[in-house]
Amino acid sequence: MDSTFRRTPKIHLQDLIDGLLSGNRVFLSQSITLVESKRSDDKALSAELIDKIIQRSGKSLRIGITGVPGVGKSTFIEVFGKMLTAKGKKVAVLSIDPSSNRTKGSILGDKTRMDELSRDPNAYIRPSASGSSLGGVASSTREAILLCEAAGYDVILIETVGVGQSETVVKDMVDYFLLLMLAGGGDELQGIKRGIMEMADHILINKADKDNTKAAKRAREDYKNAVHLFPPNDANWVVPVGLCSALEKKGIDEAWKEIEKYVAHSKSNEWFYENRKNQGIKWFHERISARLQSSFYSKPEIKQEIKKREELISSQKISVRKAVDELFS
Ligand code: GDP
Repeated sequence: MDSTFRRTPKIHLQDLIDGLLSGNRVFLSQSITLVESKRSDDKALSAELIDKIIQRSGKSLRIGITGVPGVGKSTFIEVFGKMLTAKGKKVAVLSIDPSSNRTKGSILGDKTRMDELSRDPNAYIRPSASGSSLGGVASSTREAILLCEAAGYDVILIETVGVGQSETVVKDMVDYFLLLMLAGGGDELQGIKRGIMEMADHILINKADKDNTKAAKRAREDYKNAVHLFPPNDANWVVPVGLCSALEKKGIDEAWKEIEKYVAHSKSNEWFYENRKNQGIKWFHERISARLQSSFYSKPEIKQEIKKREELISSQKISVRKAVDELFS
């Protein structure tokens, strides 16, 4: 956002909204930058922006995609996205990358990714948001989803690294959660925690090609057996375990067919709508908690009082319970 934007927000905000609703990608990018901004004047503007477009959002299919680094997420998203744009759909790709906050480097963002898809006029790829907290990044990604929907995108892919931090966050903002896995490679679960498998609506074993085909088929049977032991999910959906090769573009159409089946299934039993409603309410409460926390911790007198009590707690002069009670008294 340039400074003229800040000086005359009203006029420019309307331009931004008009551009966004017309599907212009530059305006979409500017809108996402605005909702990611931490500046207080930007926050007021972005609240207004989201408020103005909220009625135009909600119509896409939101798909989360996760898997360990190297499983083939970007290769998969590239061919999956191209398959969807060939079907006439507009596809947006967003990502949540927990590594980018801590190390400034990024597992998802530091290589040239999805080259072909990024040149497709019906695709929009947004580099991962960064921020000081996963919660903050999650919140701006949720708003980015709304903005992409208002800009007319039909399918939103939200990618995250399957290393155990951001999957729950992504699960809470999508309609469908796709887990990419590999066959073989020693440990059967490849560091993917059982909890992540239980969250998945679909397990897809990638790299089912060349010498790896046999092992992939074996892994499919193993995962099918594992999935049967999980408790039934809320959607009352039997999680499919499929094979694909993003490299050889195999199994991609089949994966999409399963997703379409899920959408029909979860709309007919109402879970699709129920889930979105629950997600919205959960997000609301998360934002309330975040707001309470930041307004509490940002008070200078509280900072001082906390510091004092930290020392008292360390030297066992006061109990944690008493220290907290005193802060709120
Ligand atoms: P990401 O870290 O999960 O995004 O994984 P990438 O998409 O960057 O892929 C990691 C490596 O695996 C790259 O060298 C890809 O070419 C390769 N790869 C991705 N998909 C396949 C596949 O289906 N088969 C094979 N054999 N290699 C693949």
